[in-house]
Amino acid sequence: MSRQKQTPMRQQNPQIRIHNFDEVPLGYSEEEAMIEAERCLQCPTAPCVQGCPVSVDIPRFIEHIKNRRFSEAIATIKETNSLPAVCGRVCPQESQCQGVCTLGIRFEPVAIGKLERFCADWEAQHGGATHQVLPTKEQHVAVIGAGPSGLTAAGDLRKKGYQVTMFELFHVAGGVLMYGIPEFRLPKEIVQREISALKAMGVKIELNKVVGQLYTVDDLMSQGYDAVFIGTGAGLPRFLGIPGENLNGVYTANEFLTRTNLMRAFLFPEYDTPIKVGKRVITVGGGNVAMDSARTALRLGAEESIIVYRRSEQELPARAEEVEHAKEEGVKFQLLTNPVRFVEKDGAIAGAECIRMELGEPDESGRRRPVPIEGSEFVIDADTVVIAIGNGPHPLVPRTTPGLDLTRRGNIVADPDTGQTSREGVFAGGDIVTGAATVIQAMGAGKRAAVAIDHYLQEKRAGKE
Ligand code: FAD
Ligand code: SF4
Repeated sequence: MSRQKQTPMRQQNPQIRIHNFDEVPLGYSEEEAMIEAERCLQCPTAPCVQGCPVSVDIPRFIEHIKNRRFSEAIATIKETNSLPAVCGRVCPQESQCQGVCTLGIRFEPVAIGKLERFCADWEAQHGGATHQVLPTKEQHVAVIGAGPSGLTAAGDLRKKGYQVTMFELFHVAGGVLMYGIPEFRLPKEIVQREISALKAMGVKIELNKVVGQLYTVDDLMSQGYDAVFIGTGAGLPRFLGIPGENLNGVYTANEFLTRTNLMRAFLFPEYDTPIKVGKRVITVGGGNVAMDSARTALRLGAEESIIVYRRSEQELPARAEEVEHAKEEGVKFQLLTNPVRFVEKDGAIAGAECIRMELGEPDESGRRRPVPIEGSEFVIDADTVVIAIGNGPHPLVPRTTPGLDLTRRGNIVADPDTGQTSREGVFAGGDIVTGAATVIQAMGAGKRAAVAIDHYLQEKRAGKE
């Protein structure tokens, strides 16, 4: 067996998959997983574990796979990661565990994410360990927002015996996992499987409950919740602020992806929620959200899907795998290009006037600043535009919770180790604190907050005794 290359994962042919919403990579068989597990060096220092924001014992679960102990492998992952089927699919492993894998110094790193996905899928087929829950305690915790940070905090607190109720504004739980990331990257059935496991542990989920409108954080505290965790995410789209942004045919990525994923527009007419997509679609932005939008546009019938990004390929913030998949599917890239205004014809979008950019000195993010090249304007014809240039914090809960310290951008200020906010008994984590980040970072924040809430509630109880 060669240690040099990762065991490839079979995937749908690009020409076929652009006509369906089925998952692109098809997963490892047992044999393929065992072959890949053989590549692990079982390093005593295990840098991969330090690279994992929730410290999964990676060498141990891989050793179990190598020895065909798949049930033990998934149990090992679940000791610290409550959403392995999700993380195995969407985590940026290349910059986390795999980015520091010893094998990666000379060869390709171990395919840790693919192995994690294999274990979670194996468990779904064969049944596996259920989470252990301590005897129920009297104290109640309210968790606002059912995205990865809230789901993780809720699961960990329930395991410690607390009574946990989640409040979610949408009609389904899952946050971005349900309304943002498309079906072809993360099947919604898988997300709901993970959520069912939480419900089976006794976590209550109240859907269609908008905190800040129906009741505030203070109302929840006076209803008897002993602590509150806020995990409301970054769901407020940013705009370019250029002429023509309100034209018919210009979507924010939020709207475009939410209509497609959450409202199931891709299943129209089975679902009564159509979405209008033209023949030539421009997506503005270079992150995962932009790749998801451009690839979704193709699947919804666009003949041409073009990414317009103001920096070069090297600075694209999307995961390398997503960029590769987009290219395989025929998405085109107009790099070092920025729209300056949208062009109108008969009241609808007809194109984007763009300007060429060059890279100057690094900015505060460390990336080289894009600078417009004067006189280089040109028009790209398009009948649909999707703006995917980032999201700000959901403002409702911060606005309706007096005494909560916020950053200049409106994110909640919280201790990075505990999630403690400026309000006693109120904790926060995930994108609402950090700004748009990653699933695993949100989960890590939920985990740390669960530990801190446990300490806080133990002290509170001791104070009463
Ligand atoms: P969210 O997932 O945003 O969940 C917040 C929840 O709170 C939502 O369900 C929302 O409805 C609810 N809520 C908000 N306000 C209220 C309120 N007032 N009352 C009740 N409920 C409320 N990360 C990766 O690691 N890999 C990827 O490949 C990746 N791809 C992405 C693709 C897209 C299209 C997007 C948008 C993001 C992607 N991310 C990816 C980022 C990742 O999904 C987020 O960082 C992560 O979901 C943040 O989790 P969260 O729990 O903080 O917030
Ligand atoms: Fe295995 Fe790589 Fe972790 Fe070493 S760093 S234990 S090779 S996964």
